[in-house]
Amino acid sequence: MAAKLVIAGNWKMNKTAAEGKALVEALKPLVADICPCQAEIIVCPPFTTLSAVVEAARGSNVKVGAQNVHWEKNGAFTAEISADMLKEAGVEYVIIGHSERRQYFGETDKTVNGRIKAALAANLKPIVCIGETLAEREGGVTAKVLETQLAGGLEGLDAATVGNLILAYEPVWAIGTGKTATPEMAEETHKCIRSFIASKFGAAAAKSIVIQYGGSMKSDNAEALCAQPDIDGGLIGGAALKADSFAELIKNAITGRKG
Ligand code: PEP
Repeated sequence: MAAKLVIAGNWKMNKTAAEGKALVEALKPLVADICPCQAEIIVCPPFTTLSAVVEAARGSNVKVGAQNVHWEKNGAFTAEISADMLKEAGVEYVIIGHSERRQYFGETDKTVNGRIKAALAANLKPIVCIGETLAEREGGVTAKVLETQLAGGLEGLDAATVGNLILAYEPVWAIGTGKTATPEMAEETHKCIRSFIASKFGAAAAKSIVIQYGGSMKSDNAEALCAQPDIDGGLIGGAALKADSFAELIKNAITGRKG
């Protein structure tokens, strides 16, 4: 059996608490008939919007994630947020190592590794982002870049833990650009990621790990992308900012997965 389908919306630095609450209130009825066995639905608002969204999503099939977490439990780390703080706020998931964090805020594979461990220690479920730049793809080093990110990011984790993770493969050149990897191109890379996980952590972990695609996934390409055997859903930016486009994307992804 393939890994389950997981669709997560990364709101980035968008949506005040009031706007986030309104989005979730609009989304809930549109996805109410979707069971977690078809797709896990997650929204990841900014920190200050989390509590309002946790409240709005309570009792529904919409789960809540944060967009980052610090690796220390507490201390002198101005402006940072710990895993325990997120847990207390009612958060279940956390995005770690998004390319915008890597590009603009000095995120490295070592800090990604620390954040993953802190999240897991607090029973948060990490969504770990990896991806190559356009220059790296054109230079023919995509596999090497992804393997380096995975080896560093997942260092010290055991096979059972890795088997329960969510990875988001996001080619940096496809994020927010409208350029999507073709389903075949994305599948080829997802397959290569799964093989690498198998070689490091074993076949069972490779089978159960969720590998999302991210990068201009929209309602009109979600079906074809999620029809690929190694694509287990998506991490969605722009198309997750409106309830109707996000709900349509989720439904099309489910149709794709059914085949
Ligand atoms: C993202 O930032 O994770 C993302 C995939 O963005 P978009 O869907 O807008 O390309």
